[in-house]
Amino acid sequence: QNIILTENNIDEDQTAVSGEGNGADGAMEKGGRDFMYAGNLTDVGGMRELLARHGFSFSKALGQNFLINPSVCPRMAEACREGMPERFAVLEIGPGIGVLTRELAGVAEKVVSVELDRRLLPVLAETVGECSNVEIVQGDAMKLDLAELIRRTAPGLPLAVCANLPYYITSPLLMRLLESRLPARSITVLVQKEAAERLCARPGTRACGAVTLAVEYYARAERLFAVSRGSFLPPPKVDSTVMRLWVREEPPCLVEDEAAMFRLIRAAFGQRRKTIVNALVGGGYPKEAARAALTAAGISPSARAEELPLERFAALADAFGRPARNG
Ligand code: SAM
Repeated sequence: QNIILTENNIDEDQTAVSGEGNGADGAMEKGGRDFMYAGNLTDVGGMRELLARHGFSFSKALGQNFLINPSVCPRMAEACREGMPERFAVLEIGPGIGVLTRELAGVAEKVVSVELDRRLLPVLAETVGECSNVEIVQGDAMKLDLAELIRRTAPGLPLAVCANLPYYITSPLLMRLLESRLPARSITVLVQKEAAERLCARPGTRACGAVTLAVEYYARAERLFAVSRGSFLPPPKVDSTVMRLWVREEPPCLVEDEAAMFRLIRAAFGQRRKTIVNALVGGGYPKEAARAALTAAGISPSARAEELPLERFAALADAFGRPARNG
């Protein structure tokens, strides 16, 4: 069995990945479709039987809605492969019972899947255990050092991220992936339809939020296809969308202090119905300094956050920084 089921029993902040189990010659071969579990993972009856055999029940708190629509995972794997060279690695978050993992194993040289729920490890051992290019890592994707994990498990391979994300951490997880400077070229994710609308929104539209601008700083977002709620077991209350982020090599605008810009964006959108000057004051910025910085950045104090493109926030952050530097 070539899979490494790396249980991180000591500290979930630390990965405990060893090189053991990579196969006798250590080779990572693409497309190990020779699975122990012969059933079809999108077949509801088969899935129920598999889960019952392992005494597994779905956890709503962990966002466990597993894909049962057979067309979704192949399309996601193909979207993940697009733009990547022949040999590449995939980081998957939340493999569940391995339905997407199996498709990814067919297109990538190496798949590293991080699953928080320990109860799924024996299930995954059965469904992807014989897949030589899959490595399951038990841990919290919000805590693990993902860049370090990838350096250790898929050294030298260009990286893509692909996941059916747990809904409860969509935005923080995407921000974490982007801010961690993971060397990913693209991030293909299945998210709630409303989350995709927000993440892909254009400035000046009501759908635009703080996360839209934060994501735009790091990546170019595109919507790929819709996925109905009936595509999951159990079905969630909302529909979903598969979207892709193309990670930028350079940010679209220059700013002296990224963190200061993101603080301003959060404050401005924190009270988005207010004018920007009042939202900033509400967010703790002194009124006179806010007025002066807005004027210096060429922004009307009566503008609303959602009307402003990212470059304006960069200019505003620089304007706020200037008196402090000079003084
Ligand atoms: N990929 C599977 C599929 O498409 O059927 C499962 C997707 S399900 C929406 C989300 C998965 O993420 C679950 O397996 C859940 O246990 C896992 N998960 C939830 N929170 C997590 C976290 N913080 N880190 C890693 N995995 C997590």
